[in-house]
Amino acid sequence: DASTIDIEKLVRVIPDYPKTGIIFRDVTTLFADADGLRVTIEAMAAPFRDAGIDLIVGVDARGFIIGGAMGMAMGKGFVPIRKRGKLPPEVYREEYTLEYGTSEVEINVNAVPKGARVLLVDDLIATGGTAMAAVKLVERVGGTVAAASFTIDLPDIGGSKLLRAQGVEVFSVLSYP
Ligand code: 5GP
Repeated sequence: DASTIDIEKLVRVIPDYPKTGIIFRDVTTLFADADGLRVTIEAMAAPFRDAGIDLIVGVDARGFIIGGAMGMAMGKGFVPIRKRGKLPPEVYREEYTLEYGTSEVEINVNAVPKGARVLLVDDLIATGGTAMAAVKLVERVGGTVAAASFTIDLPDIGGSKLLRAQGVEVFSVLSYP
């Protein structure tokens, strides 16, 4: 039953992955479960049903699993932000900092209608580096990230606070200190 399933139990926890000291939260086990997928997507969509959202944007690659489902659940379209070199031209690109090194993400220049109110989705927010790069790309193409919805927040790492400081409403289904 959807109202009683414990989605937290469906997230596989892997200590010391991808390196020592990191506790990796694997959402693929959650999304492999039919009730887990449905309940999670419904929970991520619920706070934003009356928020005047025009479009869902999600980040490569787990943001795609969530994004398409969110679009269906909310009756909105979905636009991908991809790792460098995957989208056809023309694109805008943003570089952002990872724990070690940097990464680059891209969006198609005409992917978002001017003035669109975007809901950004991803599986997890930690430092917020990925989400902040996504916010910049959406702004560069003329949209606004009105809100962001994550399956998991790690609030102590500070990313969700950073997003809120940019005026983005932030929601997560699960939260781990
Ligand atoms: P941030 O840029 O906020 O530091 O990291 C968030 C990004 O890294 C997300 O795109 C997310 O998919 C990935 N990520 C970082 N840590 C984890 C984790 O423990 N589990 C999962 N599933 N993704 C993670």
